[in-house]
Amino acid sequence: MIKQLLQASSITAAVLLTIACSNQKSESPTNSAALDAPVFLKLYTLDCGTITVSDLDGFASSGDYAGLKGDLANTCYLIRHPQGDLIWDLGLAAALVGIGPQTNGVFTTSMEQTLSTQLSDLDIATDDIDFIAISHSHFDHTGQVDQFPNSEWLVNDTEFEHMFATDESSLQNAAFATLSTTTYSGDKDVFGDGSVVILASPGHTPGHSVLQINLPQSGPLLLTGDLYHRTESRESQLVPRFNSDEPQTRVSMVAFESLATKLGARVIIQHEPADIATLPKSPQFLQ
Ligand SMILES: [Zn+2]
Repeated sequence: MIKQLLQASSITAAVLLTIACSNQKSESPTNSAALDAPVFLKLYTLDCGTITVSDLDGFASSGDYAGLKGDLANTCYLIRHPQGDLIWDLGLAAALVGIGPQTNGVFTTSMEQTLSTQLSDLDIATDDIDFIAISHSHFDHTGQVDQFPNSEWLVNDTEFEHMFATDESSLQNAAFATLSTTTYSGDKDVFGDGSVVILASPGHTPGHSVLQINLPQSGPLLLTGDLYHRTESRESQLVPRFNSDEPQTRVSMVAFESLATKLGARVIIQHEPADIATLPKSPQFLQ
């Protein structure tokens, strides 16, 4: 039953799985998330740039952000597991480093260090990274794919088809097209033990995903991708005007909140500076 649920394709399945696990383990004094976590699991937060937005109006179809400016953090993550290393999200393009802030429309982007440099500081070569995965295919989550030519790309079939159907000519897509690629339907239990699970959470893009990590000491943690961009977005369930599907996004938000409650998970909004400030900066890590 658990295996069947793992193969199902929605956060709802993850909620059911959590219930199933907690039922099975109800006699244990330890919570189910801790039981699911391997002894060695580390989460490093990596700096993948900053995005200053001169007009946030596009980030809420309700109009709540009209006339507001704001800074978005841009973060990537290294997850170290006994069976391999995963990079979650690939940030802004490496070419930004050293050239100062660059403005394109309402976005001004800047970045101080590449992922390669930050991994090197941890004595990790980019070739040593086993898996890469992106929450979705927007420019601020795909920029440094060219740094990982020998990693295996894990991607759900919906986002894969979306990427190559809509923008075949982009530099990022050209780099993705050369990678060893594993496509899957719905969710992906990366290491097969429930400790790191990519969960389909569509609506921002057709195959947008979030990441669930069950850390052995810190407990369950959810990385939102761009399901939410800011604290207010989560509090008021605001949906960007540029999402691929607003009703689908709202369904994903409900499922995400249900899962977060069931797990008692710490939620990190990847673009929210206040959330990122609560995480240790690499080379420090959560475990
Ligand atoms: Zn983003």
